[in-house]
Amino acid sequence: EKIYDLLIVGGGPIGLACGVEAGKAGLDYVIIEKGALTNSIYNYPINMTFFSTSDRLEMANIPFMSIGNKPTRTEALEYYRRIFSHFNLNIKLYEPVETLEKKEELFHIKTSKDEYLAKNIAMATGFYDLPNLMNIPGEDLPKVKHYYKEPWPFINQNIVVVGGANSAVDAALETWRKGAEVSMVLLEDEVDQAVKYWVRPDIVNRIKEGSIKAFTKSTLKEIREHEVVITTPEGEVTIENDFVLAMTGYKPNFGLLNQLGVKLSEDEKCQPEYNGQTHESNVPGVYLAGVVCGGLNTREFFIENSVVHAGMIVKDIVEKSKVRGIK
Ligand code: FAD
Repeated sequence: EKIYDLLIVGGGPIGLACGVEAGKAGLDYVIIEKGALTNSIYNYPINMTFFSTSDRLEMANIPFMSIGNKPTRTEALEYYRRIFSHFNLNIKLYEPVETLEKKEELFHIKTSKDEYLAKNIAMATGFYDLPNLMNIPGEDLPKVKHYYKEPWPFINQNIVVVGGANSAVDAALETWRKGAEVSMVLLEDEVDQAVKYWVRPDIVNRIKEGSIKAFTKSTLKEIREHEVVITTPEGEVTIENDFVLAMTGYKPNFGLLNQLGVKLSEDEKCQPEYNGQTHESNVPGVYLAGVVCGGLNTREFFIENSVVHAGMIVKDIVEKSKVRGIK
């Protein structure tokens, strides 16, 4: 039976970077992705623009061409498609990894379609699959969305946007510009300071002029069919509502890491344990790459600062395999 040197879980930007480096080093690798190529980016809002300039997202010395100064989602999707075809990456798509187990020196991986054996695993599973839930009554109503795609369904509708970071602000502005009646529910007393510097004045001014209503230092208490209840410093407020866009962030899927025995820190960050030089976790042969390395702090790592994980991981595998003589 075939034994891979490296099996990479996740075909996001960092999983692809691991594949490129593994290929260059002559490792026998495979990338397994549960959805489409760069599935997270595919699922981002359709009109989303990155905060990084395109040159800072480049990998493997392949230029990233973008017409504006910040690339769009579509430009990024095309860039990663070209990375895939240029390096002829060995990737399986629409194949979720279901179980991972280490038996003696080998990893046994089961997906929805197949079984694999590998000497090493790189977990590059990102953070976009599990939304942070509000855990309030009515959250399971179909009018509540944890992923925002585009403004068209919300024309002339009463929208509540929960959250005050980039995703919330983008959704609030875009739907308001298409004629939605928008109220924001913010935990803090203002929109997040980390909101893209060229977008922040836009939302601050829309709130100041009253075009978009902001309930600050507030939380959503309950969602009903045609209204929502908001807890504000002045007491409870009930407003008419058609849709709730819960832009409350996302978290990594720790289930797969647990299966392998990767330890998480016991503080509120739940950061997986790994060596900062090699990105090898506490489980020998299990490497962590990309946004998953930050645990619940999903802002610590992004594409710009984590493409380098790929080189560190492959270098360590190559060095260790020389020592162990397994390749
Ligand atoms: P992801 O891109 O999330 O990829 C993980 C992949 O793993 C996914 O394709 C997923 O489908 C797959 N996967 C998960 N579980 C399984 C499984 N069980 N089996 C198989 N596959 C699985 N970063 C920047 O550097 N600059 C920016 O301007 C920027 N803008 C952003 C804008 C938005 C709206 C968002 C949400 C994020 C932005 N980021 C930006 C962050 C950036 O998108 C992430 O840091 C990046 O996607 C992380 O890459 P990754 O490969 O670690 O994870």
